[in-house]
This record gives sequence, structure tokens and C-alpha cells, in this order.
Amino acid sequence: MGPRTRVASFDLDHTAVRAPYVRAAGRYAGPHGDVVTKFDLRLVQPNVQEIATAPLHTIEHLLAGYLRDHLGDAVLVDASPMGCRTGFYLTLLGDPGEERMLRAANAALAAVRDHEGPIPGCEPRRCGNWRDHSLPGARAWAGEIVARGLIVQPTIELPPDA
Ligand SMILES: [Zn+2]
Repeated sequence: MGPRTRVASFDLDHTAVRAPYVRAAGRYAGPHGDVVTKFDLRLVQPNVQEIATAPLHTIEHLLAGYLRDHLGDAVLVDASPMGCRTGFYLTLLGDPGEERMLRAANAALAAVRDHEGPIPGCEPRRCGNWRDHSLPGARAWAGEIVARGLIVQPTIELPPDA
């Protein structure tokens, strides 16, 4: 293991995708038949746009709760923002499939766009940076993303020697 070890998410050709999108990014089967899946929910075009930390943080606080309403039997384990601030990784117990995840992401983002009232968990006991939030920003980004239209994005890998 060294710096040449390939990391799956770095194998995606980030210049060949079209955001916003949902992409199946990983599928892991456990010894007892359970399946864990990972999705790349890309909200803005990599290396073209990024979401500022305050609206991204507010989307994070709202997204998981709204996604859980639309995932059927699959259990959302985690929804975490990417360090590049262009989207989220979603980790689930179970496999909802790309089409269901697309519908769930659309519905959840529409709910973020329409969210009124307090931001869940936005207080110092429940959040590590509770002042760094923007509900107007989160609503505006979610509205723009829903209007643009999410697609299912296949993985386009870089060539092995890239
Ligand atoms: Zn927080």
C-alpha cells in the first residue's frame, strides 16, 4: 500500500460527468447476505461550481431526514458532504437501485427547497459549527438543482495508467 494505490472515487473521470446526478459508486456484500451500497449524489458540476459551506451544511442537516421518507426498505446509514463541496456520498444498508435513489434525491431536494422553520440540529449541543448555516442559500441551491434535473450518471473511469 502506497501512494500509487488506486482509490475508487479517484478513478471517476470528473471531467466526463454531467451534474446534477445520482451514480452508483459502490456495492459491498457481507457474509450473511446483507448488502451495503454507496451513491455519489453530485449536486453541481465538478471543477465548475462549488457550494459554499453554509448552504452545503444546511443541506446536510436537512437531506438525510427527507431522503429517509423515500427509500423503501433500504436504510440510509450516512449522508456526508464531499470535501470538494460538489455533492454528497450516501451510504445505505440495502440497495434501493439508481432509479429509486434518483426519485428519492429529487423528492428530498424539493423538500429542502420548500423547507420552512428551524434547521434540524442547528444548535451548539447538536452541531460542530452551528453558526455556519444558510437556509436561504440551501433553498436556492436545492431549487436550482431540481430545476436543472437530476440524471442517472454511469461511472466513466479514467484509463488504468491515468
Ligand atoms: Zn452541523
